[in-house]
Amino acid sequence: MLHSKDVTALKEKLRGTVIERGDAVYDEARALYNGMIDKHPRLIARCADVADVVTAVRFGAENDLLTAIRGGGHSGPGLGSCDDGLVIDLSALRSVRVDPSARTVRVGPGCTQGDVDHAAHAFGLAVPAGIVSTTGVAGLTLGGGHGYLSRKYGLTIDNLLEADVVLADGSFVTASQRKHEDLLWALRGGGGNFGVVTSFLFRAHPVSTVLAGPMFWATEDAAEVMRWYRDWLPNAPEEVSAFFGMKTVPPVPLFPEEIHNRHIGALIWCCSGPIEEAERVVAAARRELPKPIFDHVGPMPFPTLQSLFDPLLPKGLQWYWKGDFVRELTDEAIDIHLEHGGNPPTGLSLMHLYPIDGAVRRVASDATAWSFRDVTWSMVIAGIDPDPSNAGAVTTWARSYWEALRPHTAGGGYVNFMMEEGQGRVQATYGPNYDRLVEVKSKYDPMNLFRVNQNILPEVVDGRRTAAGVSKARATRKAARKGASAIDMPSPDLSDETAGDQAPGQPG
Ligand SMILES: Cc1cc2nc3c(=O)[nH]c(=O)nc-3n(C[C@H](O)[C@H](O)[C@H](O)COP(=O)(O)OP(=O)(O)OC[C@H]3O[C@@H](n4cnc5c(N)ncnc54)[C@H](O)[C@@H]3O)c2cc1C
Repeated sequence: MLHSKDVTALKEKLRGTVIERGDAVYDEARALYNGMIDKHPRLIARCADVADVVTAVRFGAENDLLTAIRGGGHSGPGLGSCDDGLVIDLSALRSVRVDPSARTVRVGPGCTQGDVDHAAHAFGLAVPAGIVSTTGVAGLTLGGGHGYLSRKYGLTIDNLLEADVVLADGSFVTASQRKHEDLLWALRGGGGNFGVVTSFLFRAHPVSTVLAGPMFWATEDAAEVMRWYRDWLPNAPEEVSAFFGMKTVPPVPLFPEEIHNRHIGALIWCCSGPIEEAERVVAAARRELPKPIFDHVGPMPFPTLQSLFDPLLPKGLQWYWKGDFVRELTDEAIDIHLEHGGNPPTGLSLMHLYPIDGAVRRVASDATAWSFRDVTWSMVIAGIDPDPSNAGAVTTWARSYWEALRPHTAGGGYVNFMMEEGQGRVQATYGPNYDRLVEVKSKYDPMNLFRVNQNILPEVVDGRRTAAGVSKARATRKAARKGASAIDMPSPDLSDETAGDQAPGQPG
């Protein structure tokens, strides 16, 4: 039970602000990017510095509060907030420091993609990350992070060199290749499970003007474009990236009126190498592909590309998304895309296939928490609309599209493209890396304080072993028996073992 004197004490300790129900800014402060999610936290601790984060984490743990961590607030299922608990809001921590000689960028946990693109571009640099500038860098990075530069420079986590972290007990560590390597390994894809990251250090790359932009085809040509794209991608230079989308042309002045509201297949290009070389590759593609109904590929500053779609996707829209990894784009799968993707329920609903190849594949699947390194695409199906009365329609569409594709997908999905889909999906996504993630979780957050996320359960929750804890205890027992076959060894006590894998308070 939280008393008002405890809240007053928290307010006195923080340099930032504590926002409660009834405060004038409460509704604005709790609002998430996804308008479909409406959570009412008990307290929002808007931290001003790392000391505030330490205080807030300790407060959450000591008062047994459900504790959420908020970076940019863009999570589809709204995992940057919680009902009735404490939100550790990092949105005020937006500093970016570029070191041009070391080619590194230090990023605060409240930064958006646009903050980082803006700061790095001044030095002719970019950090590989996502494709919409309003997205939070923290949550994107901790889930993996893919975008236009992934083929050439890898996932965002492949460029994460170091992270400052406030752990569940309020202690502070820096995770790097030299210290707490296990924590850095887990942060590279394992989400917000291990602590509050208060600073990220990234490697940056020389990217400035890119040859980029969208090409659209009428749905009659979409199947041919998809087949071309499937065959072209494996041999395309890594500096050249394009993702495929099934979309609808928005009725905005950027596009000619005669194509407004048409369902389309689209390629969105980004060529980060020398422009002449890129122009040759794109010109060859134009010769091979059917004639597009819209072609707007040209040179532009990288941050311009990154913010191209921002105006179409303001905060507060209804979103329901589902993701999966895709190894092969079969003809059967293409038919399914045409059937569902060609008939979206609303103008903003979409399907995107983002390339996961090139530099991403050169990292071993056990080198970071992100295990699906051998796929070709990360797919997202997103039902989107401004009108809350269409929430059901966009949800049903995304689910049935995703279900229809299941026989053609790789089994797990990108954690940052999941709603709350349960432990089975989380485990499938981490695959063989899941057991190690459980070990790291058990070491750094044994009480599962940080569980408002795609949760990796520690070995023991509330004194009872989780499924992973049971199988580890069994393995330990087996190894002990083997090692001491002649000696009568006592076995680990499994009397309270349970196959139940849902932590209390864990989003279900
Ligand atoms: C319009 C749009 C475009 C997108 N495009 C891309 C894309 O191109 N590539 C891509 O990879 N993803 C993309 N995403 C998905 C994106 O990666 C996720 O939505 C991600 O969760 C956003 O991070 P956030 O900080 O804004 O989220 P939040 O909602 O703030 O947090 C998400 C999760 O991360 C945890 N978290 C946040 N900050 C911290 C921290 N400092 N320490 C510990 N845990 C933390 C939270 O607890 C929560 O579990 C996109 C999303 C949207 C809405």
